[in-house]
Amino acid sequence: MTGMPVFIEDSKLPVILSKLAPIEIWAISLGFLVFCRGKLSLGDKIHETIHYRQWIELGIVGFMVLYPTFWFLNLMKGMSGKEAYSKIPFEIEAYENDSDIGYVFRRKPYAWARKSVAPLRPPMS
Ligand SMILES: [Zn+2]
Repeated sequence: MTGMPVFIEDSKLPVILSKLAPIEIWAISLGFLVFCRGKLSLGDKIHETIHYRQWIELGIVGFMVLYPTFWFLNLMKGMSGKEAYSKIPFEIEAYENDSDIGYVFRRKPYAWARKSVAPLRPPMS
């Protein structure tokens, strides 16, 4: 269970979920399954494999709770929906490393936890 997730291409699921999300979803990792609305590039596969490792570390429930919690906390810091998404620690780790195929083999467990952004600041008025 520590290899690669199963990639499902040409899926309608990202299209449907994009209607609920603040961004247009190209590919989404749900446990050991990755759904993509088209064909996955190598970078996409690395990105989604990093998310898959994060899922394994936290369990499906842990990931599904923490992911939107980080997003919500970022919104509370005054970020736009899109910025709040890109500053989720799971996404920071995945975006920083999705052009490096060796990363998945080298990465330390819970690497995302060191990617948390600055603590809550009072909103500017
Ligand atoms: Zn991602």
